[in-house]
Amino acid sequence: MVYPCLSIDLDKIERNARCVVDLCRGHGIEVTGVTKVVCGHPEVAGAMLRGGVSSIADSRLENIHRLKKAGIETRYMLLRLPPLSGAEAVVESVSVSLNSELAVLEALSREAIKRERVHDVIVMLDLGDLREGIWPDDLVPFMREALKLGGIRVLGLGTNLACFSGVLPDEDKLSALVELTNEIESTFELKLECVSGLNSSGLELIAAGCVPRRVNHARIGEAIILGRETAYRKPWPGTDQDAFTLHAEVLEIKAKPSCPVGARGEDAFGELPQFEERGVRDRALLNVGREDIVLDGVAPLDPSMEVIGASSGYLVVDVTDVCGEVRVGDKLDFGLKYSALLRAMTSEYVRKRVFRGGVCLDTGL
Ligand SMILES: *Cc1c(COP(=O)(O)O)cnc(C)c1O
Repeated sequence: MVYPCLSIDLDKIERNARCVVDLCRGHGIEVTGVTKVVCGHPEVAGAMLRGGVSSIADSRLENIHRLKKAGIETRYMLLRLPPLSGAEAVVESVSVSLNSELAVLEALSREAIKRERVHDVIVMLDLGDLREGIWPDDLVPFMREALKLGGIRVLGLGTNLACFSGVLPDEDKLSALVELTNEIESTFELKLECVSGLNSSGLELIAAGCVPRRVNHARIGEAIILGRETAYRKPWPGTDQDAFTLHAEVLEIKAKPSCPVGARGEDAFGELPQFEERGVRDRALLNVGREDIVLDGVAPLDPSMEVIGASSGYLVVDVTDVCGEVRVGDKLDFGLKYSALLRAMTSEYVRKRVFRGGVCLDTGL
């Protein structure tokens, strides 16, 4: 076994997916599983599909290529706006993309016509979170041009909340999305199939029955992967929060003062961390660092341990209060938040070990 490594429990992911899909289905909402935080890990996508998601979405084409190469057969959605320079690859690789720029739609249209294909698009609206999307005032003129393009089918409208500015989805926001959908339908005398208004931040709203009926699609990542809704980061009932566990090895264990000794300047990351005077403490140095995790996104499973800090290659943990002795060579376990999981999945130094039915599947990733 090589450390650091990340254990991935596929059964928990499948169960989480089923729980979220059942909830959404009960309210007429279809779920696309989002794999971007696991860099398009094929086994994780497979577990999501077994759990009932109807398709897979990722923000990066590289991840979608990885999934396809591994034989995961489903409908793929590109979440991040396509680059103007990459229209060909987008039409080639995914059946649907999220869009907000006419120039990009024109390029997608040209590529789709060249290939005698139809590329589906969801037009993204910015309802105040200030990341991607068309400002509502500009929607009608945008659609007037978009609907003229060949090779492209506008599936519907979408919005993304709570990701960039933390603007929460509520009945008002989703009603605004539905009203704009109605306005487009009556202005252009057409029917829009899809109103994609939700991500993991919308679970409470769905469960409370507060999502307007017309909203029929959700793109869900974190709630399936880490079992939390993301408006308040509450564990979601019926899901597990610990499908992922990070294991790192103790390289050094020494009793040292809790405060640095000597005149101080900046640390390796340009910061001047503060330390509390607590006398001499037992400090464990682990073989995982900021290259592999985000410091405030890791929590030791043993609550008597405390993370003190990290450099690029070391994590420093106070193990003074641990019951029993911590020794060189021991492996310590950590739970991960979204930020740390994203980095651990991205780090090639962290081995990924996938478990299904208690058995480790060697995926070579
Ligand atoms: C990341 C992302 C999602 C999924 O968000 P979660 O909070 O992980 O459910 C949905 N839609 C878009 C456009 C995204 O970028």
